[in-house]
Amino acid sequence: MSDRIVISERLHEGYAQTFEATELLFEVRTDHQHLQIFDTPALGRVMMLDGIVQTTEKDEFIYHEMMVHVPLLAHPNPRRVLIIGGGDGGILREVLRHPGIEHVTQVEIDQSVIDMCRQYFPNHSQGAFDDPRVNIVIADGREFVAQCSEQFDVIISDSTDPIGPGEALFTSSFYADEKTCLTEGGIMVAQNGVPFMQGDEITTTWRRLTPLYEDVSFYVAPVPTYVGGFMTLAWATDDSALRRQTPEQIQQRLQAVQQGNPGFRPRYYNADVHVAAFALPNYVRDLLV
Ligand code: SAM
Repeated sequence: MSDRIVISERLHEGYAQTFEATELLFEVRTDHQHLQIFDTPALGRVMMLDGIVQTTEKDEFIYHEMMVHVPLLAHPNPRRVLIIGGGDGGILREVLRHPGIEHVTQVEIDQSVIDMCRQYFPNHSQGAFDDPRVNIVIADGREFVAQCSEQFDVIISDSTDPIGPGEALFTSSFYADEKTCLTEGGIMVAQNGVPFMQGDEITTTWRRLTPLYEDVSFYVAPVPTYVGGFMTLAWATDDSALRRQTPEQIQQRLQAVQQGNPGFRPRYYNADVHVAAFALPNYVRDLLV
């Protein structure tokens, strides 16, 4: 159809994904990044920041469920959560499904992302930004952890890639300050790119986290619009047992959450997927050097 807009995302050298849009719904150059929201026949609505796909209505559930339920069900009793980035609200929505969560602080650098995602992606946040347990802080996550006196049981870093404002969230100094915001036995997870296309990113993260934590690893999630194969999510904690729980142990926790929230029925995540996600293929293991 000639009236379609052809969008090409070129995140990797010499490699791009292309999709069609029927309409550019919104566009602005904020103080931090170029924000675009498209309507597309294949993916529903799509948000891009600086020309990179951030989230789509069609596949967001995979990423948001895996970034949230793996750490929150591996941790024995998560009460306080810190989200860095995550302006579309998908991570926050999934965190609040856990009845035991008492407080969430979300640190997002760009108010426009929250405002526009509230408007154009209502199913991402589903009212989560207005939950009384939530404190939204508009700030650079790098600066927040450097001066934060609070501590959290789980920290989820849902940032853009390490280019532009997101770059600060992949540095050794950020990881060191971030760890001071984690309770004893707490868990940190972070989006860490697609290893088949961004192998150096996982190696760099491995080298920067291993001096700080007893247990550093990655787990995988296949997000179709993060092209080039499955995505690796970084995992770090001082309690090595948390990554070695059985599907039965995880299932018990999942059932306890579902008893407190009968509407909680993940579309991707389950206890078997949780445990299997930590099984890394050899080419990814070879990057952990
Ligand atoms: N799921 C996506 C991915 O894996 O690439 C990330 C989506 S989320 C929209 C990324 C968010 O990180 C954006 O809202 C962006 O504004 C925010 N962000 C980028 N750099 C940041 C920083 N230094 N501090 C806080 N938020 C930041």
